[in-house]
Amino acid sequence: MKDDGAGGGAPASAGLDFIREIVVADREADKHGGRVHTRFPPEPNGYLHIGHAKAICLNFGIASEHGGLCNLRMDDTNPETEDQEFVRAIEDDVRWLGFDWEGRFYCASDYFERLYDCAVQLIRNGDAYVCDLQGEEVGRYRGRWDEPGRDSPWRDRTVADNLDLFERMRAGEFADGSRTLRARIDMASSNMNMRDPALYRIRRAPHYRQGDRWCIYPMYDFTHPLSDAFEEITHSLCTLEFEDHRPLYDWFLERLKFEAPPRQIEFARLNVTHTVLSKRKLLELVEGGYVDGWDDPRMPTLVGMRRRGYPPAAIRDFCDRIGIAKANSIVQVEQLEDAVRQELNRTARRVLAVLRPLRVVIENYPEDREEELEAINNPEDASAGTRKVPFSRVLYIDRDDFREDPPRKYFRLAPGREVRLRYAYFIKCVDVVRDENGAVVELRCTYDPETRGGYAPDGRKVRGTIHWVSAAHAVEAEVRLYDHLFSKENPDDLAEGEDYKDHLNPGSREVLAGCRLEPGLAAAAPGERYQFERVGYFCVDPDAAAGAPVFNRTVGLRDTWARIQKRAAGGG
Ligand code: ATP
Ligand code: MG
Repeated sequence: MKDDGAGGGAPASAGLDFIREIVVADREADKHGGRVHTRFPPEPNGYLHIGHAKAICLNFGIASEHGGLCNLRMDDTNPETEDQEFVRAIEDDVRWLGFDWEGRFYCASDYFERLYDCAVQLIRNGDAYVCDLQGEEVGRYRGRWDEPGRDSPWRDRTVADNLDLFERMRAGEFADGSRTLRARIDMASSNMNMRDPALYRIRRAPHYRQGDRWCIYPMYDFTHPLSDAFEEITHSLCTLEFEDHRPLYDWFLERLKFEAPPRQIEFARLNVTHTVLSKRKLLELVEGGYVDGWDDPRMPTLVGMRRRGYPPAAIRDFCDRIGIAKANSIVQVEQLEDAVRQELNRTARRVLAVLRPLRVVIENYPEDREEELEAINNPEDASAGTRKVPFSRVLYIDRDDFREDPPRKYFRLAPGREVRLRYAYFIKCVDVVRDENGAVVELRCTYDPETRGGYAPDGRKVRGTIHWVSAAHAVEAEVRLYDHLFSKENPDDLAEGEDYKDHLNPGSREVLAGCRLEPGLAAAAPGERYQFERVGYFCVDPDAAAGAPVFNRTVGLRDTWARIQKRAAGGG
């Protein structure tokens, strides 16, 4: 196991975030015997998103930095919303991100019996009671943040009555919602979470793992600290909204006399511009048909990003870069895209692909001739080698690479102008063919046979290099271009009467049919990632049929993040 010296009296905490500083300090103080044990505790009620990736990288990362352990635990106490499909997807996603829980897969629902025993223990100690207040009454007794609550009329039941009633709640003698088990803490506490919170509710709903075994379910705030304690977690990392729950977390562990209780530490949630990171909203987008499912490539889910072509290493790198802080903020999506671009720049094979084809006929190239030209697979990685691409008399270039009336600084093809075809020859446009409406449908060009490989022996220069594919050899493909799911930078920041869905970007997907790719891509397998030279990074979609691939644009080539940073630094 990796030892970074953190436990060995090295100067603590240089460059560490505040949670890692705490962990280092705890080890130095020999807390928990120097053990580090974390967990990632999702509720299986949806697919994981990029915010969860931050929590996964943090929990698994800290454990591995200290030779510790990290569990995967389903926090599954809400029978209505949870499902085995989500459990399977969560396991898949964590593994895909590159982390291994080494068989320590746990479910809070497997602790129901132990949790019940803990509740009984609290009743015996006089720390919990069965309350008959219902619905709105509960709220009225609780008071408001600026006004103390009132004790429930059922607060002083005897231990014997409480034990009896709680047992009968479990046995199914009472109607749903008619009673709760509550902690007996302090109805006047300034912390609302401490005003006798519910521990158990009656709810007749089958649980995806427990079936009909239970008709009472423990509340999250009760389940979570105890699950951590059962698993001997040392550091329980969670997001900021649980800060006010920490006194309750500690109260349970203290009343139940856990000897080395875990310590809860809160950190800021990840928010990313132009998207939403709430499972409830993502579920609504899926169920409302606003997207094509959890793995729609526009979704901020890990399955969506996977389908879009984001490499897991890029997501881990992004999580590293944004760090861990104690204050909520919103991260620019361009920073995520930049991490993806950097990873793909290193690893993706380059290919030639024409998204909006314009036919080019090389008039002086013999009709029956074809040849193979050498192309570089990845200029960033010599070991990726080279490949052969076929060249012939009829080609396709991208419509964007031709202008009849080129503006200043446009160096690509135009009537009478010469450009380089990447890896091939110089060609010159000598004529333009139009259809009956006057639209350009074909270019007539000549090539210079002396310029094979893209260089003129006479030293003549051209200012533009464009990509192309041989028409007869090309593979036809569908290419899907994606943009932000939401036009608004922060779709959670709404004016009165607005809905976040009002800000969905109507142009978030553009589908191009009839794109032409170099022939090697006919056999591209789903998930493979490429750079289409001069165009962007693309990933093969599972929709692809044999011989007719479908590609998703992962990210463009332009470094928008550098531009944003420069602007922020006042660099214009
Ligand atoms: P949502 O609000 O999307 O429903 P959640 O917090 O209810 O998310 P859980 O399944 O309970 O979802 O989350 C599992 C873990 O992931 C928790 O520890 C939670 O704190 C963490 N987590 C969830 N969303 C984020 C986020 N945006 N940034 C960082 N961590 C997150
Ligand atoms: Mg949650």
